[in-house]
Amino acid sequence: MDIKELIEDVGFKLLKYAAIYLPDDVKGALKRAYEQEESEVAKAQLKAILDNIRLAEELKKPICQDTGTIIFYVKAGVNFKGLEFVKEALIAATRRATKEVPLRPNAVNPFTQKNSGDNTGRFIPFIHWEIVDADYLELTALPKGGGSENTCKLGMLSPGKGVEGLKKFVVDAIVEAGAKPCPPIIIGVGVGGGSDIAMKIAKKQLLRPVGEPNPEPELAKLEKELLEAINSLGIGPMGLGGKTTALAVHVDYAYRHPASYPVAVATQCWAARRSTARIYPDGRVDFLTHKSVEEVE
Ligand code: SF4
Repeated sequence: MDIKELIEDVGFKLLKYAAIYLPDDVKGALKRAYEQEESEVAKAQLKAILDNIRLAEELKKPICQDTGTIIFYVKAGVNFKGLEFVKEALIAATRRATKEVPLRPNAVNPFTQKNSGDNTGRFIPFIHWEIVDADYLELTALPKGGGSENTCKLGMLSPGKGVEGLKKFVVDAIVEAGAKPCPPIIIGVGVGGGSDIAMKIAKKQLLRPVGEPNPEPELAKLEKELLEAINSLGIGPMGLGGKTTALAVHVDYAYRHPASYPVAVATQCWAARRSTARIYPDGRVDFLTHKSVEEVE
């Protein structure tokens, strides 16, 4: 297999594993939520979600009919040979996964309404690039469901609103979202930078494992506070009431312009699919999020 074929193969496997097998941290958080819920209805919803996850794994079928818009995050080692093939290989991987997994075709031209039929199209799969000082190539797939995408929100707050204004904006966004993003959700919050930067940061927070707090103590405290406030709203699993509206809130930031205070909220449904692999120069591949799946597949 040459390097282009290897990248395509890894991209295909990442899309397949993400569609079928939720990462362990998300499964663990959903199981804990089931054990801690007291309401019968909330417990029943979480039980249905856990059964759904188990059946997807047993039957090797996607967890949800909405297999999402395909997004990749690429960490490109400066010394990795073959970076010129990444885009083409990930498009080919997306076409193959659409046919073989299969994934629902979700890429539609916004003007003609024509569905490409293979999950590709202008800027799709979208690829976020980051150059890293390494010799490997790290690929992360984030298939993003439409229901939870529709409740993402950007606010250009007045800087005078401060942290209290930020908290209110985030909690209000989740109240407005209600049942639409298929709770329990994971919430990414991006603060500062600019409108596009804040949303990019917020979305990237959905890649952080559930239960891993921000390394800055003040932000970890803010995440905990927001999570408690959101879980006291009573929206609950699938919006039918209960203690578990969110599994996690992840916050990160960039420095801002003195006159701007962007706050972005990215919402991710319980089907919080993501998968990551690293390709090393000798052709070795490490499936970081799905090691045990790779062993049995
Ligand atoms: S929001 Fe998530 S769980 Fe709900 S339908 Fe879309 S992909 Fe499925």
